[in-house]
Amino acid sequence: MLLLRIGWLDLAIGVREANAIQMRLLHTSDLHGNVSHYARLVAAAEQLRPNVVVLGGDLLPDDSATDPQSFGHGQAAFVRAPFRKFVTDLKQRSGAAEVFVIFGNHDWGSSTIAMGELADEGLVRILTHTDAANIDGINFIGYSFTPPTPWYVKDYERLDRPGDVPPFIGGARWSHQFSRPVQHGAKMIFDGHPTIKEDMAALKVPAQPWVFVAHAPPFSSKLDQSFSHQSYGSRSIREAIETYQPLLSLHGNIHESPRVSGEWCENIGTTLCVNAGQTTKAVSFAVIEIDEATRRITQREHGQQA
Ligand SMILES: [Zn+2]
Repeated sequence: MLLLRIGWLDLAIGVREANAIQMRLLHTSDLHGNVSHYARLVAAAEQLRPNVVVLGGDLLPDDSATDPQSFGHGQAAFVRAPFRKFVTDLKQRSGAAEVFVIFGNHDWGSSTIAMGELADEGLVRILTHTDAANIDGINFIGYSFTPPTPWYVKDYERLDRPGDVPPFIGGARWSHQFSRPVQHGAKMIFDGHPTIKEDMAALKVPAQPWVFVAHAPPFSSKLDQSFSHQSYGSRSIREAIETYQPLLSLHGNIHESPRVSGEWCENIGTTLCVNAGQTTKAVSFAVIEIDEATRRITQREHGQQA
């Protein structure tokens, strides 16, 4: 075993052998355009040498708060410059074969276009719920949408279930026609789009072993607890995990949940569900190893890089 000191935390991780059949997966979420966190993640990945890195949404800065002129454009600029450099460094220095990406409720539709350019170059792979990505015999499915939040950006929000009442306050969606965000009331934002439950019914369930990457955590779990001990996860995501039972389910969104619940992972049926959480002082992540022959999870560690 190799003992790694990552920031303040020791990680006991077995050394990967040259002919190993373990997939080592590094998952983090909610970096919110924090360039120090991105640098910390590269440093951690360089030591951990994952095969695959999974970035679970809310990756970009809240440009609406910093510069009204760039409203909705700043994130796309971030993807095309600092994020692009980050992914290039990450792959070079960690040796990761693939960087999987989903979006989150703070990400504008404009960044989806910019991330698509990086995907076209082969720098990242954007995960969707309708088409599995396969690497070394393990399938990955992604889902970016969360139930309604109080925040302004609405490109990656959906009602959780049919019949749910839209929130009182609306927000804005990115307009591809006008190349800027357009403000709408809640009814306009949520009507005419499928609910998360409907999207989960349309999910193309891949062959096992498969990994589900969803920004929203499962409702009423140890992974969706706010500071006030309320559950902010998705009922439909939970139902999908219970029904489809992926080997592993990776989440983010509620940064404080591991500190509030005291747990960063939880089993739902046979699925290991993870939310590594996020802080501002150190980047939080999870390291999971999957044995490709037995299709079992052989290692699970939580880490922080200060
Ligand atoms: Zn977030």
